[in-house]
Amino acid sequence: MTVRVRFAPSPTGYLHIGGARTALFNWLFARKHGGEFILRIEDTDQKRAVPGAIEAIMDGLRWLGLDWDEGPDIGGPYGPYIQTQRADLYQQWANWLVEHGHAYKCYCTPAELTEMRQAQMAAKQSIGYDRRCRNLTPEQRAAKEKAGLKPVIRFQAPLEGETIVPDLIRGDITYNNTQIADSVLLKSDGLPTYHLANVVDDHFMAISHIMRADEWINTAPLHIHLYKAFGWQPPIYAHLSLVMNPSGKGKLSKRTQAFTDSGQEVLVKVSEFQEAGLLPEAVVNSLTNVGWSFGDDVEKFTPEEAMPRFELEAINPAPSRLNYTKLDWLNGQYIQEMSPSALAQAVKPFLDAAGIEVNPEALTAVMPAMRVRLKRLKDALLFLRFLFDDAPVELSAEQLTHKKLLREAAHEAFKQMRDLVRTIEPYDLETLGPALMKLGESVTSNGKAGPFLGMARLAVTGQEVSPPLFESMVALGRERTLARLDEVIALFTADGG
Ligand code: GLU
Repeated sequence: MTVRVRFAPSPTGYLHIGGARTALFNWLFARKHGGEFILRIEDTDQKRAVPGAIEAIMDGLRWLGLDWDEGPDIGGPYGPYIQTQRADLYQQWANWLVEHGHAYKCYCTPAELTEMRQAQMAAKQSIGYDRRCRNLTPEQRAAKEKAGLKPVIRFQAPLEGETIVPDLIRGDITYNNTQIADSVLLKSDGLPTYHLANVVDDHFMAISHIMRADEWINTAPLHIHLYKAFGWQPPIYAHLSLVMNPSGKGKLSKRTQAFTDSGQEVLVKVSEFQEAGLLPEAVVNSLTNVGWSFGDDVEKFTPEEAMPRFELEAINPAPSRLNYTKLDWLNGQYIQEMSPSALAQAVKPFLDAAGIEVNPEALTAVMPAMRVRLKRLKDALLFLRFLFDDAPVELSAEQLTHKKLLREAAHEAFKQMRDLVRTIEPYDLETLGPALMKLGESVTSNGKAGPFLGMARLAVTGQEVSPPLFESMVALGRERTLARLDEVIALFTADGG
């Protein structure tokens, strides 16, 4: 069987992390089997469509590296891939169902349906369409047509019996057919509902497997009857477990943006993960762990490593969570594997967004030291603040002394450091390092460089947290380092030191 799977979002906004997980599992499965991954836009509910959403969804998928083989932007042999552009096809098949006795025209007006529901509520009956147009006589129909009433097309659902939904993850699920409504398939504006468009497209796009969130599972019995009415073979179903909030309380899919849960920041939109400085590799890795497990206690792996092990049957049907703490840990791991220049490049957009200009070489120079400390790319801003902010913190002479480096000695040490910085050639890591070590050993009372180097780092960066001294000095450059040392030295004099 050729594997053809699809991600079929409705363009109601950004890409949600739950949707990204659905897309990822489809993509993994397609890639594993050398099949096709299709992007289809289900936009028939025009009231809910948001301008720009299709682009936003595609941007999110691209960022995650989930490339599609057919879709709205690249086309493909089964296009178009946007449902509102396929309206004729749905009309044709809705009419086919009517002609073959599987569907009927319903002329009920919205007012009539409201009245029906109110009566049902008053009589404490179950709420739902009572099929009043199902058995109209040809004369009654003709009269309604003549009165100019615009009909919808409803499915003629079975009234008794059971329907089995075979699901690869959940096994067979049995539904009583009384649960299946005479759902609207084609609206009076000529556009299909989700049910009709979904079934027609999955058939004509030759979809082999449907992997989607399990909130759609209850639509499957109706869909199975639609396939049967058309005489088509339904795809194989695999409904994915729900993604819960990290606390386990409530569905993450209900959230529309980042929020705090039990003191933890919970990101929701894929763009929020990106803006927070998470790497797509880490996000994809974490998402693969939601409801599926690599096994052998392995947490960190690439999609390519996951592919051979990825089986739909092994997906856990129980609700699962994205582990945000582990995501940060994974992100740190991926950051450590990056080359200094790649990391500098990845950090750059965050600096740009904060309006910070740093020369690329200086940035690359601090990366080896920072790499081990970063959890998220955005944290780089904290470390590198001294590079763009000339007076990061107000320092005092007090802070720049130590019990092994008392005030007088500290003042002297900074003056020597200034002379050294002014004259040293070349001004680089290899030369600065040993020279400052030597200076440090000569100025402290215990002959150890540590206390001096610590003070010097604070003096140069003005930060409690920063890259190490030598890297910071190189990143800052000779002139700016000298200017800071001048300020520091002035602190000692101004204070009467
Ligand atoms: N349009 C549905 C959604 O927005 C897709 C359901 C399906 O994949 O069948 O999730």
